[in-house]
Amino acid sequence: MAVTQPTDIRQLGPAEMGITWSDGHESVYQVRDLRLSCRCAVCVEELTGVRRLSADSVPQDIRPVEVTPVGNYAIHIVWTDGHQSGIFTFPHLRENCQCAECEGSKSGGD
Ligand SMILES: [Zn+2]
Ligand SMILES: [Zn+2]
Repeated sequence: MAVTQPTDIRQLGPAEMGITWSDGHESVYQVRDLRLSCRCAVCVEELTGVRRLSADSVPQDIRPVEVTPVGNYAIHIVWTDGHQSGIFTFPHLRENCQCAECEGSKSGGD
């Protein structure tokens, strides 16, 4: 199965990250929301899927320090709070896209 790949990942502002995808889609993320959506074993109980990460424990000014590709399916992010076990797969990133278009389709229109 072909996975849509990011062609460009960049910091848009102090708290925003942007990804351009191979299908032309332009994703926008609030970096803190991205941090909160982490599904690694530290943030989410592996067996039960229960979220261990509390939003209160993530600083408002959290930033990605380092973004590196993992194979051709994910990116690895090191955060300013020291968290670095999270892998963000491309489908996960697309699901969590916060651009106007995706936010609009999520809320189901008016
Ligand atoms: Zn995590
Ligand atoms: Zn989008």
